[in-house]
Amino acid sequence: MPTHSNVLEIAGESILPGTRKRLEIKVSKLFDYTEMVIPVEVIRGKAPGPVLFVSAAIHGDELNGIEIIKRLLARKSIGRSMHGTLIAVPIVNVFGFINNSRYLPDRRDLNRCFPGSASGSLGSQMANIFMREIVEKSTHGIDLHTGAIHRTNLPQIRAQLDDRETVELTRAFGVTVAINSSIRDGSLRQAAAEKGIPMLLFEGGEALRFEEKVIKTGVNGVLSVMRSIGMIRSSRLRKAHLAKEVFIASSSQWVRAPHSGALRVRKKIGSMVQEGELLGTLSDPYGDAVVPVCSSKKGIIIGMTMIPLVNQGDALFNIATFEDSEIVEEHIEERDEN
Ligand SMILES: [Zn+2]
Repeated sequence: MPTHSNVLEIAGESILPGTRKRLEIKVSKLFDYTEMVIPVEVIRGKAPGPVLFVSAAIHGDELNGIEIIKRLLARKSIGRSMHGTLIAVPIVNVFGFINNSRYLPDRRDLNRCFPGSASGSLGSQMANIFMREIVEKSTHGIDLHTGAIHRTNLPQIRAQLDDRETVELTRAFGVTVAINSSIRDGSLRQAAAEKGIPMLLFEGGEALRFEEKVIKTGVNGVLSVMRSIGMIRSSRLRKAHLAKEVFIASSSQWVRAPHSGALRVRKKIGSMVQEGELLGTLSDPYGDAVVPVCSSKKGIIIGMTMIPLVNQGDALFNIATFEDSEIVEEHIEERDEN
């Protein structure tokens, strides 16, 4: 695992303790020869400490994280007084970003291309560059996501929660719901874990939106993690954000449309639902042929579709199960995350 030292070199540039620098990591050129670069800002405190990378828009249409990083960089506590280094990468998938697209030009998902290779597809090369220039120089990481297009997610952490340090970081981030996911899927999270770097994935809101509540939750979450690993003092984090509990879902499952039609949603994100409870109704354009959509189990709605016209089989509501869903719902309402 890397440690803080006086020498930090990214994209061929040296960044000294107590300084702040904007860099560009060259990726490739578009076919019109426009240079494509990943923008990076590195902020080094005077004192040694952890090296945390915070990245967003690995899926190019997931925008909340970009705004989270922008606001983070404007905070007074982020600077020379820090212990350690913050590496901020607001837009990783620069190709998808300019097209409002989740994917790369060849329709690959960058978050399935890790750890990548220097001679692979464009996604594989970008993953390889990101691993070498960012991940391998860090001691911790946070990757910011939203739901896919036309889907929204309750603010949540996804992480390898069989690792003690990752659980500590999850607790520090301060959202109510966490999902344990340790599948081998070619994601940045998996590649970082294989390098022994504890990493959180924050999910919140919908693609192609700036959502104020999600953004605030994300900014506070990152600051709170930085505080917990000794990079900053408590800054101006609200006390309410510091004292909280995280609940780890034992599983989550999508309820799919039993029929095609127009969906009328009866529940909101973050709500608790009982097994068999009505989540919404599907009907034809006249309002006839009404088909109920019911929950397959008791749990909390942590994700849902935002598009009201659905085909049979479409994923509509993501229900996470917990030991005690009532308590989880109370905490979500109290923290007003939904
Ligand atoms: Zn994503």
